[in-house]
Amino acid sequence: MSAVIAIDGPAGAGKSTLARRLADHLGVQRLDTGAMYRAVAWAALERGVDLDDQRAVAALAAAIDIAVDTTVEVDGVDATAAIRSPEVDAAVSHVAANPAVRTEMVRRQRRWVMQRGGGVVEGRDIGTVVLPDADLKIYLTAAPEERAGRRAAERQDGRTVPDVAAQMARRDQLDSTRAVSPLPTAGQVAAGALVVDSTGRTADDVLQEVLGWLWTNG
Ligand code: C5P
Repeated sequence: MSAVIAIDGPAGAGKSTLARRLADHLGVQRLDTGAMYRAVAWAALERGVDLDDQRAVAALAAAIDIAVDTTVEVDGVDATAAIRSPEVDAAVSHVAANPAVRTEMVRRQRRWVMQRGGGVVEGRDIGTVVLPDADLKIYLTAAPEERAGRRAAERQDGRTVPDVAAQMARRDQLDSTRAVSPLPTAGQVAAGALVVDSTGRTADDVLQEVLGWLWTNG
């Protein structure tokens, strides 16, 4: 079994960048669990499934094939760009609050780790629920205005930074107050988690901090 590393935190904190760099550095694979919830939300919108119909959304989540790698495929259809659309941004937290959807995604995420014997897994509930026994649990955060600025620069879909900030705040609010597996705040992270604030720091600097921790404690 190689290392199991969990990265949680709010939107735009830099989880994907850190996960990618850490996985490359350690020679393991990484799983973006947000992409899985996005894939379910995208499929529901595409197929006209009512997002308020919890049973229908759960049935859809159980039925579709989701392949997350450098691309995201849903039942063999490339949805890599589509799952990052403003429409999916607006719908995904609602879908992710559905307990049956979460049960199914958590099952798939644990199977992914078992099949590979480890890896870097990023999301909102990885250290708290999905992989509480991970070798390293990281809670990555950053100031809200910086998170919105980074996300707006990344997407370049015409949305202004204040628009992205407002939408992100709404999503973080839903994600951290839902009944099932909410995103913890920086003050209530998973036991033993390393809290890293990426505000004003380069991706390299953040990677070095985490590697430093691994060398000392790993
Ligand atoms: O990471 P990303 O911002 O792409 O995640 C999209 C959404 O998926 C989050 O806002 C959250 O609602 C949901 N999510 C989740 N649990 C995870 C990962 C993502 O609920 N482990």
